[in-house]
Amino acid sequence: MGLIIREIQVKSVLTKSGIPGIDYCINPYIGCSHGCRYCYATFMKRYTGHAEAWGSFVDVKTNAPEILQRQLKKAKRGRVLISSVTDAYQQIESKYKLTRQCLEALLQYQFPVDILTKSPLVLRDTDIIKKFKDVEVGITITTNDEKISRVFEPNAPSIMARMRTLKALHDKGLKTYAFIGPALPMNPESLSEKISPYTDSIIIDRMNYPSKTLKIYQRMNLTQWLEKGFVDDVIQRLKNGFDGKPVSIC
Ligand code: SF4
Repeated sequence: MGLIIREIQVKSVLTKSGIPGIDYCINPYIGCSHGCRYCYATFMKRYTGHAEAWGSFVDVKTNAPEILQRQLKKAKRGRVLISSVTDAYQQIESKYKLTRQCLEALLQYQFPVDILTKSPLVLRDTDIIKKFKDVEVGITITTNDEKISRVFEPNAPSIMARMRTLKALHDKGLKTYAFIGPALPMNPESLSEKISPYTDSIIIDRMNYPSKTLKIYQRMNLTQWLEKGFVDDVIQRLKNGFDGKPVSIC
């Protein structure tokens, strides 16, 4: 199935955030071709009039960099998350380069930036990212099991590609974090061993929207991964594997 791409114009791109520790969010796209089955951002369909399946459409905010420039002139400096309801480095970004241009604008004003993605495309922009005084790049790695990832994150980059990206960012001297959220079925010791050397901190999140994925868990006989006690134990085993590095649980 082809991706439905629509170019749109927006009036605002720097939006106030309710996320603790984050002042603003920038989402250069609406929708996300990664199509994660657990994605909480599907509510965006309601606000944007999309009836298509999540993962099958992307609206491209072609004037985002220009609008951001205008907004930054007036905005109070604050921490910016890229992105909260899309992946700013999904494949289409290789063509439109909106995220890159937004970073260039943010750099002029030295807004602190927090990037969160599943995509190796973020490595394209390390030349800019390295120039920020306060910047952190997070890679979402939800499991160590590629087969599980394919089921829950059908069009996202492989787990191996994400691990390589985390390592490459770390090797370039950037501050990194691993976002293990939602924690999917995994071997926690194996996952923490692989990523611990390349991450400065870790955020772990549970499957907060189980209704979206319950059928998958049932079909795969994995429903224990939705039980609080079982997941608490997995989280503890993950924490044990991170050698005292800061771990936040959402
Ligand atoms: S990468 Fe993030 S925004 Fe994109 S579908 Fe997956 S969870 Fe949603």
